[in-house]
Amino acid sequence: MIPYGRQDISQADIDAVERVLRSDYLTQGPVVPQFEAAVSKRVGAAYGIAVNSATSALHIACAALDLGPGDLLWTSPNTFVASANCGRYCGADVDFVDIDSETFNICADKLANKLDMAASAGRLPKVLVAVHMCGQSPDMARISALARAHGVRVIEDASHSIGADYLGAPVGNCAHSEITVFSFHPVKIITSAEGGMALTNDAGLAARMERLRSHGITRDPALMTHVADGPWYYQQLELGWNYRMTDMQAALGLSQLDQLDVFIARRRALADAYDVALAGMALDLPGRLTGAVSSWHLYVIRLHDATRHRAVFEGLRADGIGVNLHYIPVHLQPYYRGLGFGPGDCPVAEDYYARAISIPLYAGLNDGDQAQVVAALSRHLAA
Ligand SMILES: *Cc1c(COP(=O)(O)O)cnc(C)c1O
Repeated sequence: MIPYGRQDISQADIDAVERVLRSDYLTQGPVVPQFEAAVSKRVGAAYGIAVNSATSALHIACAALDLGPGDLLWTSPNTFVASANCGRYCGADVDFVDIDSETFNICADKLANKLDMAASAGRLPKVLVAVHMCGQSPDMARISALARAHGVRVIEDASHSIGADYLGAPVGNCAHSEITVFSFHPVKIITSAEGGMALTNDAGLAARMERLRSHGITRDPALMTHVADGPWYYQQLELGWNYRMTDMQAALGLSQLDQLDVFIARRRALADAYDVALAGMALDLPGRLTGAVSSWHLYVIRLHDATRHRAVFEGLRADGIGVNLHYIPVHLQPYYRGLGFGPGDCPVAEDYYARAISIPLYAGLNDGDQAQVVAALSRHLAA
């Protein structure tokens, strides 16, 4: 089976993890801050807070922005459920802005209209989660300008897009958002097994997120309500969680970061090759936003003929091509239907879902395997 995505683990990665296993600290040691510093430097953000998943990073990002009951979080429906669930963890309500049919990211025009309507109704969101679908940045310059005009704080869910660029600068520099989140799950661009990171340029948000990932506890005397009882002393200032990353995970992530440029170059070459090989088939190819250079986490095709969707998907799987579908519209999940959402709420994302297939794309995919994917796709589309 050729999977749709998979990690690429080197001997150097294995050695890095083994070194931690033989060291004094398996967690809360020196490697987590090294990984945070390396990722922050790579993407040009002032602070990086490593956690045990991107889901946790989204949660502490929302909590640090004081999202709470009575507040509203907006995101797009064509994403993993975590982009919306982070709002629910904080007790906030969630709503969805439909996607752009070419880039699969939040549609800036629809966002502008919905913000105007929300402003009139006096029900603006506190937080907007802008998802970098497939590794391509949304139109962040326009989105951040719209958000700022209405006092909305922006989190970029860049789980797919470490190594991507936007307007000539690395995604993650937080030039257009308060906080950017990366995922290091094995199917993503680089991996720490499980893991995520929240990047920010705001010292206050960084300190708050660092506290929230570890129970809301501080050892900083300046933040304590009274003089420390002694050298053992810490204070829990608010309710946080145990979202810490281990040093084993950080060592893997740090070692993987050395390969980021190599991985991205290979993914871009494979995506360009798909564009050429699939041109002319009864498919829509992924659209590219001017000014954005994708990390190509996913390559998503859309069949012209939705009635063949399931047959083509099943045919490819039967041929050993591990296709997948990203994503089932979040607002159609039973949990969100229970909150009042349903079919018709986001027609563009629903049409996408009826036609989309993620085909294999990962750094270790060789040219022969890619040719096999193209041939199988061509055969099933003709059938
Ligand atoms: C993978 C993913 C997440 C969650 O990442 P984890 O590290 O698995 O928690 C969140 N948002 C998007 C868009 C993702 O693809």
